[in-house]
Amino acid sequence: MGDAVQQFFAVKAKIAAAEREAGRQAGAVTLVAVSKTFDAADISPVMEAGQRVFGENRVQEAQGKWPALKEAFPDIELHLIGPLQSNKAKEAVALFDVIETVDRDKIAVELAREITRQGRAPKLYVQVNTGSEPQKAGIEPRDAVAFVTRCRDVHGLAIEGLMCIPPADENPGPHFALLEKLGHEAGVAKLSMGMSGDYETAVAFGATSVRVGSAIFGSR
Ligand SMILES: *Cc1c(COP(=O)(O)O)cnc(C)c1O
Repeated sequence: MGDAVQQFFAVKAKIAAAEREAGRQAGAVTLVAVSKTFDAADISPVMEAGQRVFGENRVQEAQGKWPALKEAFPDIELHLIGPLQSNKAKEAVALFDVIETVDRDKIAVELAREITRQGRAPKLYVQVNTGSEPQKAGIEPRDAVAFVTRCRDVHGLAIEGLMCIPPADENPGPHFALLEKLGHEAGVAKLSMGMSGDYETAVAFGATSVRVGSAIFGSR
């Protein structure tokens, strides 16, 4: 068994343990295996071990490797977890099954147009910049609920969840708690939060999916 497969099973076991410890239902948390920078040869063994949900942060990189992988494993669910430029909305709607990084009206307009045009509707999450970091994508927490409402009522987009990336140098717990509160206020059920360093914490705070890269595939 390769390293990535072994680490994949270890992460799955830790998620299951964190679910139990938090009193959550077994299987309540979906593992999104973040495969950015890794190629098909690295990814395939993890798919063969049973993983079907993957995350990529760049549209162009994903376009290079995922169409062939999706042909081999048609039940793949591919998540876009990186910033989306509006000139890439067409490609993103065509390739991804979940887009986690909706964060402004301009991109909502472009996604709505492409969803209508292509007749293909990826699930959508709104990214919230919980730490209000100037260099980071995501809508400001104070604007998040109104933006989710606007996506629904003005842009005609069903938003299923919220996503956040806490500041690297802070305790993530308060950021996860904030995302959970905003999700409740916005009336969305899904919370994408937690990465290699803090996914067990995220499970305790109510994550419905965790995005884990280096703990499975190794350092980038
Ligand atoms: C790269 C990335 C991850 C995974 O990070 P690891 O620390 O390697 O688990 C999760 N979320 C986003 C948005 C990322 O870009």
